[in-house]
Amino acid sequence: MDKDLKSYTALELRHLVEKYGRKPFLADYLFAFIHQKRVLDLNAVTPLPAAFREQLIGDGYFISSLTLAEQHHDPDGTTKLAFDVCGGGRIEAVRLSDRERQTLCLSTQVGCRMGCSFCATGRLGFERNLTAAQIVDQVYQAQQLCGPIHNVVYMGMGEPLDNLDEVMRSVELLNHERGVHIGIRRITLSTCGLPEGIRKLADFTLHPRLAVSLHSADDRTRQELMPIAKKYPLVRLVEAMKDYQLRTGRRLTIEYCLIRDVNDSDTHARSLLRLLKGLSVHVNLIEMNPFGNCPFAPSPPRRVSAFAEILTNAGIETVIRFRRGQSIKAACGQLGATRLKPH
Ligand code: SF4
Repeated sequence: MDKDLKSYTALELRHLVEKYGRKPFLADYLFAFIHQKRVLDLNAVTPLPAAFREQLIGDGYFISSLTLAEQHHDPDGTTKLAFDVCGGGRIEAVRLSDRERQTLCLSTQVGCRMGCSFCATGRLGFERNLTAAQIVDQVYQAQQLCGPIHNVVYMGMGEPLDNLDEVMRSVELLNHERGVHIGIRRITLSTCGLPEGIRKLADFTLHPRLAVSLHSADDRTRQELMPIAKKYPLVRLVEAMKDYQLRTGRRLTIEYCLIRDVNDSDTHARSLLRLLKGLSVHVNLIEMNPFGNCPFAPSPPRRVSAFAEILTNAGIETVIRFRRGQSIKAACGQLGATRLKPH
């Protein structure tokens, strides 16, 4: 691990403090000053003895911060924040406002290696993983700029399970009672469907909500939309989802982006029902968000309603997620779209 103290869990800070022969309770001050008071200078952690602060600074320890590059506001209340990451690259986070509740959709990687064909981030390719500090700092800066954040969804740029250790470290930091203390049920990880990652996630002590992007219940269509489906056929993915549910007792969220004439027929809806049999789920139907030269179009509203009705009639809780933040390219699948070259 590097020397960015913002990435350290409470236990790791305690071990560090003890390594220097200092009283363990000083780690509690360090944690609270970093994650509650948001100090960026170790000298501002005044409960630590000055000599100890100097020792830490002298040994290269520091507290990192993302650099805000841009902010854009959509008339529907959505705000997109773009940050430059130390070491290179730009990421985006989106604050969605829903009456009293504010949700932050955050990024876990610069770019993404999964290459989903309906997603602008996938077109950017993969640059690097974010550290836990860079993940939690999106929440801290969004709070400062936009007010309280009640829910966090890991659905921005990147595949969270492809950077699982840093992601789970960030979940622990966000959930900690001496930090921002966001309830574990208010934190959602979204995956394009990596069975090994899902199994590994069940091994952690903390279990945030898990959302799986299916987008199709047949392998052929899914492979066209999501190249990763060639490596992991649906049978393996569903097995991992069942195993996760058995081990954690958690209901799963299914994300299904409706694309005109690709995955939105009645037959597709019935295939989805068959695939989900035996799982406890609720389904989010997402309106597809076109970008640049994307070859797909959103399903017409009539189709969206018909699809939803088939699921609801079969007893599956189904929600239609309408497009948000489209004018600022902050909607699902659009993050990074402003950096794609038109061709
Ligand atoms: S949809 Fe998610 S997993 Fe797929 S390319 Fe986009 S960011 Fe990556």
